[in-house]
Amino acid sequence: MAMLECIDCGKLLSSTAATCISCGSTDPFGAKRSRDRRQLIGMILLIVFVLGVTYCFKTGLLTPSDVRNFLFHRTS
Ligand SMILES: [Zn+2]
Repeated sequence: MAMLECIDCGKLLSSTAATCISCGSTDPFGAKRSRDRRQLIGMILLIVFVLGVTYCFKTGLLTPSDVRNFLFHRTS
C-alpha cells in the first residue's frame, strides 16, 4: 500500500487515510484544499465573466440583440 506524507505534519500515512493519525488533519493530502481552490478559481472566473459582460453592456460594446444573435446563431 502506498504511503504519503501528511501535508500538515509530515507523518507517513496510508494513501487511503481520510484523517491524519498524528495531527488529526481531515485533509492530510490536500485533496480537499486543491478542490476548494479549483472551485474558487471557477467562481472568480465566473464573476469576472459576468462583470465583463455587464461592462460591455454599459459601454455599449454589447447589446441585447448581439446576445440574442449569439445564442440563436442568427446573422441579422
Ligand atoms: Zn498530520
